[in-house]
Amino acid sequence: MSAISHLQPAAIWHNFDLLTQVPRPSGHLEKVQKFLLDWAAEKGIDAHMDEAGNVLMYKPATPGYEDCKYVTLQGHMDMVPQKTPDSPHNFETDPIVTRIDGEWVKATGTTLGADDGMAVATIMAIFEDDSIPHGPLEGFITTDEETTMYGVNHMADGELKGEILLNLDNETHGEMVTGSAGGINLTAELEYKPVSVEEGDVAVKVVLTGLRGGHSGLEINEGRANANKCMARIVMDGITNFEARLATWNGGNMRNAIPRHCEVVLTLPQENVAEFCETVNGEWADTLRDEFGYIEHDLKLTAEATDLPKDLVPEEIQDNLVNAVTACHNGPLRFIPHLPSIVETSANLAIIEIADGKAFFKDLVRSSSDSMRQLCCDTIESAFVMAGMKVEFDGAYPAWQPSPESPIVELMKQVYRELFNEENKVNVCHAGLECSVILSHCPGMDVVSFGPTLRSPHTPDERLLIDSVGKYYDFVLETLKRIPRK
Ligand SMILES: [Zn+2]
Repeated sequence: MSAISHLQPAAIWHNFDLLTQVPRPSGHLEKVQKFLLDWAAEKGIDAHMDEAGNVLMYKPATPGYEDCKYVTLQGHMDMVPQKTPDSPHNFETDPIVTRIDGEWVKATGTTLGADDGMAVATIMAIFEDDSIPHGPLEGFITTDEETTMYGVNHMADGELKGEILLNLDNETHGEMVTGSAGGINLTAELEYKPVSVEEGDVAVKVVLTGLRGGHSGLEINEGRANANKCMARIVMDGITNFEARLATWNGGNMRNAIPRHCEVVLTLPQENVAEFCETVNGEWADTLRDEFGYIEHDLKLTAEATDLPKDLVPEEIQDNLVNAVTACHNGPLRFIPHLPSIVETSANLAIIEIADGKAFFKDLVRSSSDSMRQLCCDTIESAFVMAGMKVEFDGAYPAWQPSPESPIVELMKQVYRELFNEENKVNVCHAGLECSVILSHCPGMDVVSFGPTLRSPHTPDERLLIDSVGKYYDFVLETLKRIPRK
């Protein structure tokens, strides 16, 4: 028994402690699946595993609560396996070593797995305790949320009985998530016949680097610089005022990250080189620092002579491509009308590669409204199609559109106010959550996501605020007690 099994409320901490002893890194869930099914059998709880490896458990209503709406309690069984460089931990075989550190519970050398072990421990605590008042319940413990969302992506349509879904995978007590963004990949492509460098021209390499980048959903509203969009302004200036020609463009490397780095090679007449380099290193660097200096502390822009490239993009195609990058929407497109501080729809022009007769643009569009996502895709596609590019879409996943009138959100706001004498914040996540996929299989469910306070998840510094766990557990129990009758 470790120190955390003596924390209060015992029901949830004891079960979380049990769970830390069972290896469950994403992709290796056999042990935790067996653990959950054995545990349920031992407690006399009706449980099974579905074809996607998700574990489902059922518990009838407490007497007097039979006519409450059916509730699904949900979390994921896998955890992110991250450890410190010196840790000998083997995530497939070793238990997590927990410890109390001031106000927090942490793990030694590894992720703690409170994301989302706290949800599993909550479900176990409620299912084993016959003194808790609640309506009919099912527990839905999903697989591989952290990698591919395999469990929810492969669940059966209508598999769940719940009319209300309580997703227990949020990271801040005092905040409820009531919606999340769907996403889609947009890829534009064009082939061209390279032309030779003009006689007497010389080459200049322009590099923009040191940008913050970040998550293309969660950090898209922070005003960070997009290296590709910034570079388009400089290339346009070069073409218009310095007779520059585009040879290659290389910006960004991951579709879901704001691009931090971009470099282009241009050629231009010898007599324009000095002035162009001065303009980039002087005026353009100053302009970008003026616009982004508050947030981009390490922005670095340089132009300097480089080796002649082997060929160029033909002039007309080069102009079309640079116009397309300039015209294409990037960043937030709209905020949520009833929650105007939260991004609804956004795009990230993540990757641009132009070289060797091929141009690729890769964009990721997100929205908590599927129709607004379509509008954003149409907007960007229009710019790229006008440049003669071929545009394709893939990897779409649905939005969980927040409802301003969700009854479960209204009830939980009220419960929170009564329990803690303060308001529970409502948030919408501008990234994908399991809730949206579950909703696509079980339309009409009333969905909310919440949880205890967790910091630095997915890192060896993951920590769980002890005080928030009891409050969160009280919040779950009081909500279950007050679930509306049919
Ligand atoms: Zn999680």
